[in-house]
Amino acid sequence: MAKLNHHDYYRLPWNLADNGIAWLEPTTQCNLACHGCYRRNDRDGHKSLEEVDADLDVFQKFRKIDAVSIAGGDPLVHPEIIEIVRRVKARGLKPVLNTNGLALTPELLRELRAAGAYAFTFHIDSTQNRPGWKDANELELNELRYKFARMVADAGDMGCSFNSTVSEESKKFIPEMMKWAERNIDTVQLMVFILYRALGTRRFDFFANGEKLEPGTLIYNEDDEDKKDVKAQQVYDLIRTEYPDFDACAFLNGTEQPDSIKWLLSGRLGTPGKTYGYMGRKGMEILQTFHHLFMDRYLAYAGPSTTKMGKSMLLFGVLDKRLRGVARRFYANPLNAFKRLYYQSVMIIQPIDMLDDGTQNMCDSCPDVTVWNGKLVWSCRMDEQANYGCNLTSRPKAACGGTQASR
Ligand code: SF4
Repeated sequence: MAKLNHHDYYRLPWNLADNGIAWLEPTTQCNLACHGCYRRNDRDGHKSLEEVDADLDVFQKFRKIDAVSIAGGDPLVHPEIIEIVRRVKARGLKPVLNTNGLALTPELLRELRAAGAYAFTFHIDSTQNRPGWKDANELELNELRYKFARMVADAGDMGCSFNSTVSEESKKFIPEMMKWAERNIDTVQLMVFILYRALGTRRFDFFANGEKLEPGTLIYNEDDEDKKDVKAQQVYDLIRTEYPDFDACAFLNGTEQPDSIKWLLSGRLGTPGKTYGYMGRKGMEILQTFHHLFMDRYLAYAGPSTTKMGKSMLLFGVLDKRLRGVARRFYANPLNAFKRLYYQSVMIIQPIDMLDDGTQNMCDSCPDVTVWNGKLVWSCRMDEQANYGCNLTSRPKAACGGTQASR
């Protein structure tokens, strides 16, 4: 299998001050308890509308953004979620609801749409122990994914994406999940595979402001050292067993290792059940550049009105060889001229990596920053700010022996 090489892909132009997204957390409460979730479900509950406004002010003060991921916790359990969506929309931003979907009813969906919801990202995977879906594997959960995709499509003109946490046990289902997404390319805009990462308390000591923390006192209580980390390369290889031509177009690197892949973006073009090929690095560069030139912001989420315009994207084939290949294959059947060609993104996210020397390799230009005490912080580590007033540092156990952490 081809080894991922960051030089083969377009480095997404997102940065701290000018990015496609920001991550708003109006609540820490959730109606599920997913394995590996980085947010505690018991802290300070729902934010008031004034607090939500203050967070949005911080985003807009520090960062140019296109979309706001409204997450948590589960945002749908917030009693004022409709007003929150309305306020995000009123600021000229795209409200994207990151939810497990448990609390979503057709009525609530209609109200959210009327308030300006742009898209939904449903987190569904086999580690969630969902009521009615206990012990269901990823394939069986496609039935539930389909239900949500249909609900959103029937409500009209909103995007639909799916997140799954990928573990060593569940990764074998990825090719089939990709086939399911291919069949539903007309209603599913994005598939996100978030790779399981263990905290590493057997290998590392952790420190807050230089003070060593006992493993049992760490806020991340779901560290499971018996579980193996999953790497972006493994997921990429698995997808290629089903789709040998599958390839990425863009990436985000790690903060400590410029050649590490943290976000890996692919864009496939097809009709339901058939893939004609993938966007290349130049196509994504044109897309991001044009969006920034004309909208003054980078693009992270594209709704159905954009993703159904796959034929227009083929124009980027002037500079993108892969898109020229897509055009050749698609128009090989002249009847396809009367069909829609859809675009669908596939994102592989490899969160924080613990390096051998204890440094923590984060996503450079983190798209999912949130607000803590008026500052932008990595949302995956906000609980460290909340509980210790700083990000934890770490060192390998063997090399430690003292109480000072490196970083
Ligand atoms: S640094 Fe953390 S919050 Fe930011 S994108 Fe990576 S995993 Fe998400």
